[in-house]
Amino acid sequence: MDTLTHQGPDQPRVIGLIGGMSWESSAEYYRLINQEIRRRLGPLRSARLLLHSVDFGPIQQAQHDGRWDDAAVMLEDAARRLYRGGADCIVLCTNTMHKLADRIAAAAPLPFLHIADPVGAAARRRQATVLGLLGTRFTMEQPFLRERLERHYGLRVLVPDEAGRADVHRIIYEELCAGVIRDGSRQVYQRIIGELAARGAEAVLLGCTEIGLLIGQADSPLPVLDTTALHAQAAVDFSLREDSAWPAAARQNL
Ligand code: GLU
Repeated sequence: MDTLTHQGPDQPRVIGLIGGMSWESSAEYYRLINQEIRRRLGPLRSARLLLHSVDFGPIQQAQHDGRWDDAAVMLEDAARRLYRGGADCIVLCTNTMHKLADRIAAAAPLPFLHIADPVGAAARRRQATVLGLLGTRFTMEQPFLRERLERHYGLRVLVPDEAGRADVHRIIYEELCAGVIRDGSRQVYQRIIGELAARGAEAVLLGCTEIGLLIGQADSPLPVLDTTALHAQAAVDFSLREDSAWPAAARQNL
């Protein structure tokens, strides 16, 4: 039986976003997805989507306390709410919480569009094999994002040194997630990207969904792969059933 979400064979699928981590980047997803739908379908077209936006306060506290199980329970609940609301897929609008991707994906019987897959595909298109990764400490120091890029896409991932990681992490939580954009912090990121380039990185992966608010291609000495923009594009591909262009590793989730 058809559901309310499928009003006809040509209707775009409904994108389900888990946002709020932080809402500064969720607003970017909303804007980028709608801009892309307009570009592909016409000036008055807009995205069919649901956004479930969590309160980031308790989530980031759980992250920093190491209470990942508590965070998983909150995000499983978000996935179930999107499913009940009629979403056709789950898009988790944060790199860091992909640490919990398996649990969130298992919470609802929907395709889970993993953030690493459009990044891996974009790196291949650009023929970049060594990426410098900027993100939270969790993303830079734990294997959940890096390993998927290495295993499925044959990439090598470099991270900043300890002092660099501390700066990148601090600026994400104290500034970017709080809506603060500082020129001085942009310069810190530029210096760190330069160091990654000197160590052999061929492109820089903005592996935190707020970094694009601070650093664009014009600011970077390396080609930029922005997870927010690439993930938003992947969501549109899925919605418009153009995801068959994805690599096999990504299609396994669908
Ligand atoms: N949005 C960020 C990310 O992409 C950090 C916020 C969070 O901890 O979820 O990792």
